[in-house]
Parts: sequence; C-alpha cells; structure tokens
Amino acid sequence: MERYDLIILGGGLAGMCAAVKAAEQGASILLLEKQDALGGSTVLSSGYMAFAETDMQEKAGIVDSIASLMNDMIEVGGGVNDLELVAAYGRHQLETYAWLVEHGVEFRSLEAVSGHSVPRGHMIDPHQAIQSFYQRVKEHPNVTIRFNAPARRLLKNAEGRIDRVVYGVEEQNALASKGVILATGGFAKSEELLGQFAPHLKGALRLGGAGTQGDGLQMAWEHGAWVRDLPYLNGTFGFHPTANGAVKSQGLAFYKGGIIVNQLGKRFVNESISYKLLGNAAFRQPDRITYQVWDQTVMDKRVADDPLYDLELLQRRRLLYQADTLEELADCIDVPADVLAETISTYNQRIQEGAGDDFGRKTLTHRYGTPTPIVKAPFYAFETTVAMLATYAGVAVDPSTRVLNPYGEPIQGLYAIGEVVGGFHGAGYMTGSSLGKAAVFGRLAAVAALAE
Ligand SMILES: Cc1cc2nc3c(=O)[nH]c(=O)nc-3n(C[C@H](O)[C@H](O)[C@H](O)COP(=O)(O)OP(=O)(O)OC[C@H]3O[C@@H](n4cnc5c(N)ncnc54)[C@H](O)[C@@H]3O)c2cc1C
Repeated sequence: MERYDLIILGGGLAGMCAAVKAAEQGASILLLEKQDALGGSTVLSSGYMAFAETDMQEKAGIVDSIASLMNDMIEVGGGVNDLELVAAYGRHQLETYAWLVEHGVEFRSLEAVSGHSVPRGHMIDPHQAIQSFYQRVKEHPNVTIRFNAPARRLLKNAEGRIDRVVYGVEEQNALASKGVILATGGFAKSEELLGQFAPHLKGALRLGGAGTQGDGLQMAWEHGAWVRDLPYLNGTFGFHPTANGAVKSQGLAFYKGGIIVNQLGKRFVNESISYKLLGNAAFRQPDRITYQVWDQTVMDKRVADDPLYDLELLQRRRLLYQADTLEELADCIDVPADVLAETISTYNQRIQEGAGDDFGRKTLTHRYGTPTPIVKAPFYAFETTVAMLATYAGVAVDPSTRVLNPYGEPIQGLYAIGEVVGGFHGAGYMTGSSLGKAAVFGRLAAVAALAE
C-alpha cells in the first residue's frame, strides 16, 4: 500500500496552500484531485482576498485594522460566527498575505466589496495563484499529485484514528501516518445536498466548480463530524441571468452607487448590505426579476478588468440597457416609467438629506462610501439575479483545523480547510474571507498535522 505523511483531498486554494506548506517542512504528501485539473471553485472566483494592515493598503492611504476586519466579519456573520476561528484568522492573516506574496501570488488591486468598512478586497488572479503553487509543489520530489482521483471513503486504524483513504475508480488505498486533510470545497454543484439543505435556493444559478459536490462532507459525516452554518445557506446577488453559461457576467454597480428595483419599478432593500442578503431580498420580488439602475456618475467609477466593477465590459457584452432619459430606460426594462421616476426622485432626495433613505441606505457598501444622486445621463440598467457560488456550511473544526464531533472532540487524524468547513462565516460572508480562510487555515492545517 502507498504510504505518506499527509494525504490532502482537493486541489483548490486550501489544498494547494496546505501542500506547499507541508512540502516545505519535508513531509511526503499525496494530493488527490477529483477533476482533471487543479483549481476547483478557486479558479472561477473573482479573486478577492480579505486582509487588513497590508502594505498595499498603506500605499493607497487606507487605514484599516485587524480589529476592524474581525468586527466586519462578525457583523456580516450576524454574530453567530465561531469567534475562535475568526480570532485565528485575525492572528494569522497578515503573515499569510506575506507568505502568499513570497510564494509568487500577485496582488493586483484593492476594492471595497460586500461587508467592507474600508477597501480591503485584495484581488489576485486565481489561475496565476494556483499555477504558482503548482510550480512550487512540482519542485518537491516528495509530493505526488493524482488527477481524476476522487477520494471515496476514509478508514480508521485499530486505534480509531483515520489513517487511510480509498480513492479512484479502482478503489486504491493509501495510508497517511500524520493525517488526512479535507480540502474538497463546498457543495454548490450538488443538487441532492442543495435540495436537502437549501430548497429555498431552487431557481438560483449554480456557479461553483464542477467537483464541489459535498464529497468531503459525506466522508466526514461517516465518522461523526459535526456540521455548522447549514441554516445560513445563501445565494449571491449580482449575476446576469445568462451567467450559467460560458460567460459568467457579474456586475455590482450597487456598491458604487446604483440602486436595485423590481419589475414594478420600486426599490425593496438597502443596497449597501451584504450581497448574500440582497440575494434573499431579490428572491422575494415578483417573478424574481430585478434590475440594477445607475447613471453616468456611477459608470465613471467603473474599474477596468475587475470581475465585479468592470461595468463597461457588461456594455461590450451587450448586457446593459442604456438610455438618455429615465423614461426611455423604464421602457427598455418594461417597468412603469412614472413609478421608476418617483423611486429615483425619492431616493435622490433622501440621500441628499443625508439622514438615510427609506431602506436605511447611508453608504455604498457596509460602512464605506457616500451615495450619489442618480441624475446624470445616460442611465443604465442591468438585469440581475442570484447565484449559488459557494456553500460555506460544513464540518466543525477547531482553530488548528481538527475536525470535531458533536461533543467538540477531535476526530483523530482528520483535518478540514477551505469551503468544506462551517462556523467561520456564521450567517453571512464578507467578500474575500473565503479565499482568505482557504489560505490562512491551509497553512495552519499543514503545521498542525505534521506536529502530531
Ligand atoms: C463565481 C465565484 C466567485 C467567487 N468569488 C470569491 C471572491 O472573490 N473571494 C472569496 O473569498 N471567495 C470567492 N468565492 C468563493 C471561493 O472561490 C471558494 O469558497 C474557495 O475558492 C474555496 O476554496 P477551496 O480550496 O476550499 O475549494 P475549491 O477551490 O472548490 O477546491 C476544492 C477541490 O476539491 C476537489 N474535490 C472535491 N471532491 C473531491 C474528492 N472526493 N476527491 C478529491 N478531490 C475532490 C474539487 O474538484 C476541487 O478542485 C467565489 C466563488 C465563485 C464560484
């Protein structure tokens, strides 16, 4: 039988960070990837990572703090996050950022996105990051990566410790003396699990990596792992209804000052809240049809080559309606023109009064930015729907990434990192905290498992 120190299941960001960190400590590693390529949901992502007190922020004159990052996470998470996990993130996030830079990950820009009190979304190209890690693990002769090799079951030894993985079509066995690390991602592509745990998301687009089908959860459940955050499964607002196809068009003009209206031409929500909560609100609208509406002032804040804010790209893809008057725009999207005009006039008046509008909007995103009136032609509209990208509910772990049973006791030999873990985000996700946690806890898992 094959023997290794560590077996890592899944080659997304979490698995690759664990593999590089463990390889640098001299461990022998088997990394199993279910698909024919590395990357999982990571390479489909917008690439934002949430870090505070970085050199990039300092250069941009942005004042942030680890305490503020943690507060935002807990606020967005409705206060039900596992505070020990959030604290561990706070302690290790800055060294993780430095480690990523040291390992060739390129950070390209900084933006304020969902849940950010200041711009702290540090954007990477996730393909570049995964390739950079792949090059590094290939330099280590003690790392074996197998593709098209789904892990199927975990087995315990006579002492009750998980030390064996059954994998592949022919059900090969491999032994891990130090531990098995689950890095299998979430279940955004499992209709069965979504049907069980998130029936309210029927009709949302499905955009996660093809391999994210909850395999890791099932393997851990067999051995008594506890699960956290299942009641908080949410979609994400911001995608064009065609995003299910090859072109995954997304635009968040509402975080730059756009508003969101329903088919009746009415606003229904404070647009600065988390795009997960916006998703819930949008799903309750007539026929679930909603439009982002903005003007040229907002258009001028677009960010070229940014997956969330490149509003001109949406225009080049012919996905935007553009009109010189609000009346014409209303005609384009088939909402009552008088209602849309009234909605915008009331909104403009309220935000100019500065006391918050009817839905409580005072900022652009979370506590950042100031709304501007929608007055400057031309005007734009973008049909927007909800997508299930990432599940975030998953197995309970401690800050050393050991998987816990319902009594809070570690299941010997089993670790979990990345999206397969629950508890960290609580009731809501702050942008960048998922790629961030994949990297932070990926490194911690390697250290913890090898220390045993
Ligand atoms: C469109 C989109 C945009 C996003 N934008 C952001 C963002 O900007 N910032 C952010 O923080 N998060 C974002 N997310 C979420 C984030 O990308 C994921 O939560 C994160 O990448 C998860 O990393 P991971 O390594 O845990 O899982 P993944 O990257 O999904 O990797 C898991 C890997 O495990 C493999 N696997 C699964 N089962 C098995 C098995 N049985 N055996 C072996 N291998 C297996 C999968 O094939 C996959 O390669 C986004 C997600 C999507 C889809």
